[in-house]
Amino acid sequence: MSNNILNIALDVPLDRLFDYLSDGFDVQIGQRVVVDFAGRKLVGIVVSKSANSEVPADKIKPILQALEDGTLLDRDTFKLIKFCTDYYQTPYGQALISALPARLRQIKPAVSRKQFAYRLSDLAKRLTVNDLPERKAILRRVFSALSENTELSEAALAELSSGWRKAINELEAMGWLNKRQILATHKTKFNSAESVLAPHLNNEQQLAIDAILENRNSFKPWLLHGITGSGKTEVYIRLLQAVLNQSTASESNAQALVLVPEINLTPQLEARFRNRLPQYTLVSLHSNLSESERLQNWLAAASGSAKIIIGTRLSVFTPLPNLKLIIIDEEHDGSYKQQEGMRYHARDVALVRAQRLNIPVVLGTATPALESWFNAVASFNKASKYTLLTLNQRAVAQSVLPTIRCIDISKSPTQDGLSPILIEAMRVRLKRGEQSLLFINRRGYSPVLHCNACHWIAPCLRCSSRLVVHLSQKCLRCHHCGHEQKISLQCPSCGNADLHPTGHGTQRLEQTLNMLFPTASIARVDRDSTSNKNALTDILSAVHNGEIDILVGTQMLAKGHDFPNLTLVGVIDTDSALFSPDFRAAERLFSQLMQVAGRAGRADKVGEVMVQTSFPQHALFDALRSQNYTAYANNLLQERAATQFPPYAYFALIRAEAHSFNDVSLF
Ligand code: ADP
Ligand code: ZN
Ligand code: ZN
Repeated sequence: MSNNILNIALDVPLDRLFDYLSDGFDVQIGQRVVVDFAGRKLVGIVVSKSANSEVPADKIKPILQALEDGTLLDRDTFKLIKFCTDYYQTPYGQALISALPARLRQIKPAVSRKQFAYRLSDLAKRLTVNDLPERKAILRRVFSALSENTELSEAALAELSSGWRKAINELEAMGWLNKRQILATHKTKFNSAESVLAPHLNNEQQLAIDAILENRNSFKPWLLHGITGSGKTEVYIRLLQAVLNQSTASESNAQALVLVPEINLTPQLEARFRNRLPQYTLVSLHSNLSESERLQNWLAAASGSAKIIIGTRLSVFTPLPNLKLIIIDEEHDGSYKQQEGMRYHARDVALVRAQRLNIPVVLGTATPALESWFNAVASFNKASKYTLLTLNQRAVAQSVLPTIRCIDISKSPTQDGLSPILIEAMRVRLKRGEQSLLFINRRGYSPVLHCNACHWIAPCLRCSSRLVVHLSQKCLRCHHCGHEQKISLQCPSCGNADLHPTGHGTQRLEQTLNMLFPTASIARVDRDSTSNKNALTDILSAVHNGEIDILVGTQMLAKGHDFPNLTLVGVIDTDSALFSPDFRAAERLFSQLMQVAGRAGRADKVGEVMVQTSFPQHALFDALRSQNYTAYANNLLQERAATQFPPYAYFALIRAEAHSFNDVSLF
């Protein structure tokens, strides 16, 4: 009996597969099909086939249609997702389908643009570049690139030279090329002034790279701990180069996955990788792409034609038939955790994936997550699971670490949240034509609308949380349920007609700065000001071009951006995190402050960081001033051990959601 029963995954909240008959369609495992499910047409994925079913024969329905876009998911991906659905308690079908790009969840074939990939013919392999006339520079360049790589796509060739097409035609006419059709990949535009020359590695970088490459054929998690600017990205580039290049003629298809926490970080990294590794097709996967871009990139990754895949957390599930290396940049970042739908931690999934494939995984960061630190430091964990690699110096010799100091605001009064010392420091920067950054860890005008007379705080009438003031939209908004209402200036509780929005959100700070420095050009970066697709990029390039004097922003600014003329960072409003009921708040604050401090003085100018706080003696600031992650992390771990918090214990969170508290109260 043939296996004509298809076991199909569907996007329904039941943790099982559904049986359908193939009914004459020639359907492969991993292929998409359309089925009737309770009267609805759904897209499903064939996970397996069987000869018989628990469903009575006369009840099994045939599939309606087989979508002819080939097998999309491979066995490794099925198994990885299966593992995750067990581990994270999610229905299998939902997890599988939600790992697909949106286009593949719709009932239509995944048509993809085609392009060609070229390789040297056997005839040409016997020749060298010196067999080509010296004056034909482009032809020689294209030929060399082809002889150094087994195969090059049109996209990759286009990056070599604008005259590539003519060269290819010429080579083809001589019978020197073989070609085949591949899936086209979307190409993001990029511009970068960075030189394509590889710097000479320093000792620490070389040691790290050697250690990883010596173990490149086995599962080993590496924690690459290096301060901002210590050259971690350079290490990634060398690793990619070595791993993608190791391919022999028979095994030329190595792929590498680079995970980044946020979309905003992809363009820069993409530009650097493209500059330095132009011979490898690179695609990115994140939610800022259009549906069709995302589909093309995903297909390029899944077919093996893309070699470097840069993506945010969901991309950890992308099928990659020849995955040989995983890099997780900013491994400590909270956005690797998916908190809705299928809950998962992309870092942990990446580790599982690397283990199953027996490949190295590199976790890079300036401030490791305490869990990762715990796993890497033997004194905490007798058999350390990760191997620690450390980069202690900034890579560019003349760039020195910024000085960090605390400004005690419990002693000196502030003007709208700004201490006189900080204001003066900004004034000095303005005079010198240098830039300042004010970092604030909140968004919106101010967190709450608050009555000074009776301490009433504007509540959300739909759920039981508090409303947040958004001054530009002149409204109060609930960040939990989305409820929105107008700002009223009279206290409903005591009648006080003089309500003031309290706290110091980014918008408020921007207004204050406009008053203090009327001639300065000031830009604000937060979720509200960057809700348009290109808004952030525009602001950042204005900063780069020196059009901005003062930048005000939230944690969006903390990461990855390089502003050579920025010499002052002021940090406002940190104290709430010091005493937060969230046990990870201090850890997060520390890593954010380290990161934001890394923004100051990256080029040849010494940077200065000023942190306003009422608790300058706090251990966190001690560690920050000496930029000593290790001391602080060890300190925090001891606390966690003493109180039996993670990573010394496991936590489970039971969350119940409803519009009113009574519906979810267990007591
Ligand atoms: P990180 O990723 O740790 O922040 P990067 O890799 O971006 O650090 O390096 C910071 C800067 O130093 C970059 O401009 C990079 O080109 C440069 N750099 C990296 N390694 C070296 C090196 N060995 N010698 C000189 N410059 C380097
Ligand atoms: Zn609400
Ligand atoms: Zn009141």
